[in-house]
Amino acid sequence: MPLRTLSCGAARALLLPSRAAPSASPSARWPPSGGRRIRRTPSLPAAFSAGRGPPTAPPAARDYDQAFRAIESDWLAATSTARRASSLAPSAAPSLEPSAAARPRYLLTMFPYPSGQLHMGHLRVYTLPDVLARYHRQRGRRVFFPIGWDAFGLPAENAARQHGVDPEAWTRRNIAEMREVLQDIGIAFDWDHEVATCDADYYRWTQWLFLQLYRHGYVYRKRALVNWDPVDQTVLANEQIDTHGRAERSGAQVELRPMTQWFVAMRRKVPELLRDLDLLQWPQNVKTLQRDWIGAHPAVTQPITVLPVAGTPLSASPSAPPPEPLGLAVVLTPEAHERFLAGDACAVHVAWTHPLLDNTAVMPAAQREALEAQLLAGGAATLGSEDRFRSSDASDSSADAAEARRLPLEAVVPADRRGALKRVPVSAVLQTDVLESPAVVVWRDGSCQRESEPAGESDSEDRSMAPPSSAMAPAQPTTLYHLRDWLVSRQRRWGTPIPIIHCEASCGPVPVPDEHLPFHPATATLRHCPQCGSDAIRYETDTLDTFVDSSWYWLRYLDPRNDRQLAAPEILAKALPVDLYVGGVEHAIMHLLYARFFYKFIMTDLDLAGWRALPRRDAPAGPVLNANADADAKAKANADPAAAAAARAHVLKTRAEPFPQLLAQGMVLGKTYRAAGSGRYLTRAQQAAYESRAAAASPAPSDGAAAPDGAVVVTYEKMSKSKFNGVAPTDTVARWGRDVTRLYMLVRAPPADDLKWDESAIIGMARWLRRVHHLGHALVPAMATAASAAPADAAAIPPHLAVALHETLVVVENVLENDFAFPSAINALIILFGKLEDDAARAPAGGPPLAPAAWTAFVQMLHPFAPALAWHLARTAGLPAPLGWPDGAAWAAHAAQGARAAGTVRRVIVNGRVVGSLDPHAAYPDDAALRAAATAHPGFAQWCREHGVALDAAPITKTIIAGKGTVVSLVVRVPPAA
Ligand SMILES: [Zn+2]
Repeated sequence: MPLRTLSCGAARALLLPSRAAPSASPSARWPPSGGRRIRRTPSLPAAFSAGRGPPTAPPAARDYDQAFRAIESDWLAATSTARRASSLAPSAAPSLEPSAAARPRYLLTMFPYPSGQLHMGHLRVYTLPDVLARYHRQRGRRVFFPIGWDAFGLPAENAARQHGVDPEAWTRRNIAEMREVLQDIGIAFDWDHEVATCDADYYRWTQWLFLQLYRHGYVYRKRALVNWDPVDQTVLANEQIDTHGRAERSGAQVELRPMTQWFVAMRRKVPELLRDLDLLQWPQNVKTLQRDWIGAHPAVTQPITVLPVAGTPLSASPSAPPPEPLGLAVVLTPEAHERFLAGDACAVHVAWTHPLLDNTAVMPAAQREALEAQLLAGGAATLGSEDRFRSSDASDSSADAAEARRLPLEAVVPADRRGALKRVPVSAVLQTDVLESPAVVVWRDGSCQRESEPAGESDSEDRSMAPPSSAMAPAQPTTLYHLRDWLVSRQRRWGTPIPIIHCEASCGPVPVPDEHLPFHPATATLRHCPQCGSDAIRYETDTLDTFVDSSWYWLRYLDPRNDRQLAAPEILAKALPVDLYVGGVEHAIMHLLYARFFYKFIMTDLDLAGWRALPRRDAPAGPVLNANADADAKAKANADPAAAAAARAHVLKTRAEPFPQLLAQGMVLGKTYRAAGSGRYLTRAQQAAYESRAAAASPAPSDGAAAPDGAVVVTYEKMSKSKFNGVAPTDTVARWGRDVTRLYMLVRAPPADDLKWDESAIIGMARWLRRVHHLGHALVPAMATAASAAPADAAAIPPHLAVALHETLVVVENVLENDFAFPSAINALIILFGKLEDDAARAPAGGPPLAPAAWTAFVQMLHPFAPALAWHLARTAGLPAPLGWPDGAAWAAHAAQGARAAGTVRRVIVNGRVVGSLDPHAAYPDDAALRAAATAHPGFAQWCREHGVALDAAPITKTIIAGKGTVVSLVVRVPPAA
């Protein structure tokens, strides 16, 4: 197929390069000079910024811009054509057909809330896996890279109230807008598998899962306190209440209301959730956060007998006999238990919601009413009941001794409307929050004194209380968890309806039968209790926490149109677990814990993939490798890539966890300007005025430094309207193009680091891509003659270029397979391009300017990072297969085959990162020679620049030479950040 038709008119002028003088204006330098460099932001190599110009004078920038616009729109048109073709394929899930031989690589990114606006953080979290998806597809591997919408939630309801729109219409419109933007930016999602959690054929399965949890005993109801807005007649989150206890929206004084809520018993799966953390190749800090959140502590459970109030029969209420023996348990640290046995306690507290207090033998009805009245009136109160209890281990039968061990039992209520809790001192008990612990012991040494703690510490929505122990056995060792059961009910409209009906006749809460799913109170046709047939029923009106929706969306992606099952078992079995999950570290605790809980429930209790018989495997001993691994772990893994791959494969095979590998991306921070004195944020206009003043002065403004006039402080902060520091990705893309925005975003920071978004240097990336484009067109005649020759004519590559290509390939492949340090890969490509450019400039007149195979390899390696330009260059050069989308198997491996075959691959690794490889043809008589060659490698120099280490005095603390000289690993002490 002739592909030499040029689509970009402006580029035709470039076919005959003139060898004009290099042109590099000072503003073209990148990073800009003068400013203090931001630590840990990798710079481009010196060759890129040192002012060495391209071999030809570039035409005016706007011609290039027009050319790039045309390239990108052609590329989009071509790839969306391919997308349509794939969606018309006979199977809706072409990459997941069970019959297909290879398991697809499942790349997952956290799905967005459809706010209607795409943020820089979104662009980053989709770009990172998009690079990997393109790379794997390019190598002929099957990839599954879906997207969807976390579409239920409060903002839609608020918009509905404020603007009178329908929450569903608002949500659907936002989804349409965001989908259009994402497709226009060109993220290579599998759109055929898109889901939205508000779709009835999605929430039907959310409801089904809830009912499965219910049937397996994971769901229970319990009274809890909620913030009630009496004007809007709704429950509020703590964040929606101002410091005066008023609802932010309605201004009403918020009441605390006891309401019966639905809970999911997360704690039943705690042992597995804790144990399997060891299997995960996650950033250590995320694992630590999750382990601490679960918070296991050794403890002792001490049963206690509760004595009825004098004169009250034990079963005072014949209609509601006490469901449990009249008992109580306190959970104590081993030390506190010693004190308890020694008689050092003076009272026991239970939460006012404790089921024990429902028994009128323990708390007479009148007293209960007084307590609740006081509670609703907002009065801070601790009511001591007349009840007494004694510890059951009292072995002495003497009445006096028993009397001496009697202690008051006290009900404790929240201290104010905001849900601030009365607490007892921490030292006495493990669970200090009386509203959530079964019971709390108060000591004689003055710690009976109760203290109020500041509001905000507690969130009544997320509190729950363990069911009381019914055991009256002697004290038993136990484990106490910080983790609470999950309060999943919300008094909201725009959410998944809880599929329960309440039978007023006799049955109480009854699950909606499966054939009535999806269940919505507005349209439900269920008229009778499924258990007793009574028509005295009402529908549950609460909805589920949206975290329930987002706990399993990545399973539905696999089979989104299945109307008989959540997903076909053979598809689940084939595609799971997810190979790589990319998302924000802010989801380390809640979302990632809920999703792990659901996965374990679905795969073990429900066995939806048919894996129950799978033998358990222990954690592998291999090295752990991910973007956040420490230098030693990375050094080990990179020194032995086979072992690292085996470790990853093992975790996949155990199938115990949904996301064996997690890439936790950092935030995108906006450049923020504040007046030094007042701290006020500068408006856009003030920023522009400041920037033009600063540009005239020297040095240029930089991170955290005072402005030249001392009046403005420049920092990087989370983007926010009120700080005037937000940047819309669509604006940046409109201004600079998709590839430039993408490359710049990737090169500015490794994925795990925060990205300080500052476009002052983006021009450097734009100019580099122009040079790449320019050289590509200059090479067209040579590529044309080579087009008939074998494309993998590696032998035609001169040796010095073969070595350079090989070095680049080692770095780029390692980044894309293992390391995800994208700046390293892009820097390596920039260094390689400089060599190609030099070679082309030195080419003899009349001869081919550059070996076509070398150019081909470069374009192939560029593709995952700059897909539109690489696609265009491939077409321009008449390469035999279109690159990348969809599944053009084309990778640069053949280009380096010559070098690989002729010599020994020797990697240079610095603090765990592959920075290059040594000349495979050179001789290295001993370790000292290898070490000398490694420290003389340009990749080492580049690493030192990036990390603020002086090259000639680099503190190398260790040199590891492994694999018979094929790995030279340097460990360098990095000075602390200035
Ligand atoms: Zn019934």
